[in-house]
Amino acid sequence: MAEPYLIRMPKLSDTMTEGRVVSWEVEPGERVTRGTVVATVETDKAIMDVEVFREGYLAGPLAAVDSMVAVGEPIGRLVDDRDEALSADAGATDTTPGPEAAPSPEAEERPAAQPQAVPRGAHPVKMPKLSDTMTEGTLVSWEKDIGEHVGRGTVIAQVETDKAIMDVEVFREGYLSGPIAEVDSVIPVGEPIAYLVGDAGKVSEARREAAGAAPPSAPPAQPAFVPSGTPKAKTKIPAMPHGATPAPRPRGSRATPYARQLAGAHGIDINSITGSGPGGLIIAADVVASDVPKSTALRVFQVPGAGRPMDAMEKAVAHSMVYSLSMPLFRVTVHIHPEGLLAAAKDADSSLTVALAKAAALAIAEHPKVNSVYQHEDRIVERSQIDIGLAVETEGMGLVVPVLRDVGGKDLPALNAHWRDLVNRARLRRLKPEEYSNPTFTISNMGMLGVSQFDAIPAPGTSAIFAIATGGPQGMPVTITADHRIINGADAAKFLATFKDYVESPQRWLLGAGAAATSSVAAGIPQGDWDYDVVVLGGGPGGEDCARELAQHGKRVALINDGPLPGGECLWRGCIPSKTWRAGADRMRDRRHDARLGVLGTNAPRLDWGALEATRRRVLESRGEMALKTDKGMKVDYVQGFARFESEHSVLLDTSGNSNDPHRRAAPGRGDGRKLRFGAAVIATGAPPFVPPIDGADRAGVMTSDTVWELDAPPKRLVIVGAGAIGLEMAQMFADFGSEVLVLEAQQRPLAEVEAEIARLLVGLLETDPHLDLVTSARVESISGEPDAMRVTYGDAEGQRHHFDCDRVLMATGKRPVLDPLQLDSAGVQTDKGVIPVDPQCRTNVGHIYAVGDVIGGLMLAHTAAQQGRVAAAALLGEPAIYDQARDCGVIFTRPQAAFVGLSAEQAKDAGIDAVEVKVPLSIDAKAMITGETDGLIKMIADKAKGRVVGVHFLADHADTLIGEAVMMVSAGLTLEQVARAIHPHPTQTELFGDMARRLLARLRRTAKARK
Ligand SMILES: Cc1cc2nc3c(=O)[nH]c(=O)nc-3n(C[C@H](O)[C@H](O)[C@H](O)COP(=O)(O)OP(=O)(O)OC[C@H]3O[C@@H](n4cnc5c(N)ncnc54)[C@H](O)[C@@H]3O)c2cc1C
Repeated sequence: MAEPYLIRMPKLSDTMTEGRVVSWEVEPGERVTRGTVVATVETDKAIMDVEVFREGYLAGPLAAVDSMVAVGEPIGRLVDDRDEALSADAGATDTTPGPEAAPSPEAEERPAAQPQAVPRGAHPVKMPKLSDTMTEGTLVSWEKDIGEHVGRGTVIAQVETDKAIMDVEVFREGYLSGPIAEVDSVIPVGEPIAYLVGDAGKVSEARREAAGAAPPSAPPAQPAFVPSGTPKAKTKIPAMPHGATPAPRPRGSRATPYARQLAGAHGIDINSITGSGPGGLIIAADVVASDVPKSTALRVFQVPGAGRPMDAMEKAVAHSMVYSLSMPLFRVTVHIHPEGLLAAAKDADSSLTVALAKAAALAIAEHPKVNSVYQHEDRIVERSQIDIGLAVETEGMGLVVPVLRDVGGKDLPALNAHWRDLVNRARLRRLKPEEYSNPTFTISNMGMLGVSQFDAIPAPGTSAIFAIATGGPQGMPVTITADHRIINGADAAKFLATFKDYVESPQRWLLGAGAAATSSVAAGIPQGDWDYDVVVLGGGPGGEDCARELAQHGKRVALINDGPLPGGECLWRGCIPSKTWRAGADRMRDRRHDARLGVLGTNAPRLDWGALEATRRRVLESRGEMALKTDKGMKVDYVQGFARFESEHSVLLDTSGNSNDPHRRAAPGRGDGRKLRFGAAVIATGAPPFVPPIDGADRAGVMTSDTVWELDAPPKRLVIVGAGAIGLEMAQMFADFGSEVLVLEAQQRPLAEVEAEIARLLVGLLETDPHLDLVTSARVESISGEPDAMRVTYGDAEGQRHHFDCDRVLMATGKRPVLDPLQLDSAGVQTDKGVIPVDPQCRTNVGHIYAVGDVIGGLMLAHTAAQQGRVAAAALLGEPAIYDQARDCGVIFTRPQAAFVGLSAEQAKDAGIDAVEVKVPLSIDAKAMITGETDGLIKMIADKAKGRVVGVHFLADHADTLIGEAVMMVSAGLTLEQVARAIHPHPTQTELFGDMARRLLARLRRTAKARK
């Protein structure tokens, strides 16, 4: 036999190093000729076809759709023989659903992929045919372990058919044995998924080889009750909800637990059933055989035509509705204005559906009858947990009712994460029975379909349902349909009134709910005889934005800041001074590109430190004075002094000295006793540099980001301890100024807040700088010597000790709030792990005291602090607003710049989002080629289900301006379509956003097509 021909990932451009398999255009075993397009792959530029250059039959293993494959690596094979192609191991690396997973004609004859592992005398448990259309099933879970003894009627596994997830019961006794099918594998109908052996000693542990990955299957049945598919197969047992109350043991006979559970869930009298198991044992199939259709058969109206059998979904709905006929129902309608909830839900990044469910749960908690259910033995089952089924119309699969569990007990972020996950999986048809069964209350929201009035029928096991229609001038009609046996008209009316109240007053619960009600005090400024409505402690970006916002709304505000001018760390010791140095360094660095654009004589720039420093000081002073003028103009009372809490409504001030003095901040004076009484307070006191207890770290010559500004010239040799944003920015700037820089980082991966690939590429680029060295996994042991003659001793990853002689050392080892001097105890404000914890509205555990910015931890960035300041102000003004880190952003001002907004693919996955990513290298961009700024890439991350951009990540020069558009995409939740359609000016790098969106859309279309 000739050697198989390997189809490799082609190199379709100079920059291409890897490609993503988008689709297979040919099925394994299909004959191809020279020039046939067998697959499409996505390169860094576009989606391209993969042609083959000889004849043959396509054979596996095929690279999985969506997988990344390095250029030159095989993605599939061509063989000369069709049988060989068909028998090749297509599933080993291929996750493409479809042809290779389909049963071949021989499959029926081959009981297992590894016949040699089948124990002698073993009885196969086969993939059952659960509907007429079913040809294969996906193994969802094993309910029993290999070696476990099982009896007739035992449910051993769950499989997913093209319609729903169903249980697999066995009909003989034995020990469960391999080869067993792997969870998630697709097995043709009739093929063994496991074996039963009579002797525990014969049990085989072997696994059946997978035939392919699970294809997306059909929607789960809506209600719990899903009777069998075709009448003749006994295995067609309904999907059974977990947690259903089993029927009592039958009198005078025995029943399997599953049969009792099934009978209990559907109110079937188990005593009336004759068991077909050994000794008259009642099994699940007997319960199904005895079920509702018999009692309803008499009511059939004869119409012309033969009819067709209903599918499982149709039957499930029909049987549920018949069951509901036993309920005496009545209806009550109110009109509700949901606009406030709509806005608050948007601000809280909550889906309106989830917010409505939460409002319903709060109302149910006050009217628990609505959560009870009547049982035919004249019993009421009262339930403490509120599980809300939410009917959603999904494209292509009709109505689905996933159940949000424990809506009363969970906070809004948790409910939203759960809901996103349920909806995503519902769309993929991967819901488990317990995820769409047994709600205690249901909401049907047809408002989104434009329905102006409707009512709904409660599902079996519930007593009431909400029907929500489209709003009109009177508001949004909400109709409750309720079971009159336990709920009367007044109950329903009161319940609706409470629900209306929750929906129309979301500020009472929605925003606080995000923090699991950390404080029982309502938002707003307590009334009283105060000196100020609000005092804000700290005049950095967090405090200043907060104070201005409050003053703009007419509140009396004192901005207490420990310095003559506002601005905080950002202005005096952080963003602005460091970016002044960066601007000088940029000018020097950019000169390197001049010659390639024909500009000569500029390649030997020299730094005038004095001039640069004069510019820096000028910018700082004028920005500080401008800020103070603006504060005063806005009627913010700027009070210079260091504040500490005296009580939960008063602070004492220390006005004894100047601020901005890092040496004083650690040990402020006790204060001159001036006291300010306030209604509410906002703590925005920042976080100064943290220096770990390293031997010699307190020596002269060891600087921090507070004191580095005292340098009278760039050091010739500089050690920077810490490779975070501040450390790396400083390292590259000083290297640009001509210093020899050694960066020592304790962690293996610097820049934890930056997307992993971007951080790795940036570190790689920095290391190419001849003036800069970066050692990771380094442990600094000691610092000795005096300024201009210092020595740093450190150990490397291998434990080797090194010395580095330098002029200065800069500790860039993080920032930590200094909390003791604030005397938070006097106000009852709690701290946790060195920061002040807050809820999404930035409220501390004390209802009228808020904290924002670096002092609360998280992203320690100026715009983050400012946003949190505005959020706290909004809360104090009684407006809904929250801080959402998933939409925050940052720029690391190296060259190229690393920048991020929103989520990385990894973070999106952790948040339960099915994310897709596309990236484009700067090396293909015309503008970057002109300026010689081709290092780096841009990545876009989108939520596959919603088609929205959830993150953009940059390693690019000019990322600080490019990111603006990405910020709008993420904060507004723009769709890929919207970004793709926007007209971007040419030639600019903003065009890359449109390109990426279009590529992602094309990929999603291709993969969707390939999966059909
Ligand atoms: C070198 C460097 C570069 C940086 N670059 C950037 C950047 O490029 N982009 C970015 O977004 N962020 C950057 N940052 C971070 C940014 O400076 C901070 O995140 C931001 O300033 C935090 O704002 P804040 O309002 O929380 O606190 P701060 O800005 O620290 O302001 C707090 C203020 O409160 C005062 N204060 C403290 N205690 C009291 C008290 N008890 N009473 C009265 N006043 C008090 C302090 O003196 C200070 O003025 C940088 C930081 C450094 C060190």
